[in-house]
Amino acid sequence: MIESAGHWHVDAAELGRDDRVDFLRSYAFTGVHLMALVSLLTGFSWVALGVMLATFWVRLFGITGGYHRYFSHRSFKTTRVFQFALAWLGASAGQNGPLWWVSHHRLHHRHADTEQDIHPPGIRGFWWAHAGWVLSRRYAGYDTSVVKDLLRFPELRFLNRNHMLAPLSLGLALFGLGWWLEVMWPDLGTSRWQLVGWGLFVSTVLLYHTTFLVNSAAHTSGTRRFDTKDDSRNNWWVALLALGEGWHNNHHRFPSSERQGLLWWEIDVTHYALRLLESLGLVWDLRAPPDRALERAERS
Ligand SMILES: [Zn+2]
Ligand SMILES: [Zn+2]
Repeated sequence: MIESAGHWHVDAAELGRDDRVDFLRSYAFTGVHLMALVSLLTGFSWVALGVMLATFWVRLFGITGGYHRYFSHRSFKTTRVFQFALAWLGASAGQNGPLWWVSHHRLHHRHADTEQDIHPPGIRGFWWAHAGWVLSRRYAGYDTSVVKDLLRFPELRFLNRNHMLAPLSLGLALFGLGWWLEVMWPDLGTSRWQLVGWGLFVSTVLLYHTTFLVNSAAHTSGTRRFDTKDDSRNNWWVALLALGEGWHNNHHRFPSSERQGLLWWEIDVTHYALRLLESLGLVWDLRAPPDRALERAERS
């Protein structure tokens, strides 16, 4: 899991036990991947594909718009109820609770691509940055001192402790929907287990790797518009997959900007979705990138 990259080499023997992959945590992670493969045995239906895409995109927005742009960077405002809805949606992606996620992400920005960074691909290798760190014992907990603004909400503390409730309830809802469709519209060719398989497991595996690509690929391949201290890149294909999060060099330069794609062709679906929610009155005070960011982008 730990490999050499760039001019650094980290030898596994130099690292403490906590820095290695924790087998229990990795069994759970591997288990979700195995379940996704097993799910393919439930067969294919267009309904299952549609449900899989819907649970993928909606939950991905829970990560990009919720965990990332709202909770980690406070780049817009919303009500306490919608804040909880975003946290629940983020938790349903199976990437731990909001306090855990935000704490690690804020520390990533503080130390990006240095030895103190949690997932620097240039130092610890691509696979560590992609998934290894998630599976290590060292990062099973989180630093409460960087999430004090969120700790004051008891509902967020509850969800952080019981984050599995979100994916479990999604699984139950998919089971119920699949059963209902099976009985009411058997011609659709779907079933309760097929919807759980595609809508929960296949979709969650895709969500894992799409999110992880921002930490691995968007710190190793792509272009650098801004000369930031870190190694962040603007990577168009990660941006397309991850609802705009691939414009990562823009993001590291202006982390509190709600918008990450600075030019018209820098497709940023999270930004479009947030503008839609703004027009519905659900969110407001979206923090725009500074004018100098846009001017610099236009010159590049
Ligand atoms: Zn980054
Ligand atoms: Zn960020």
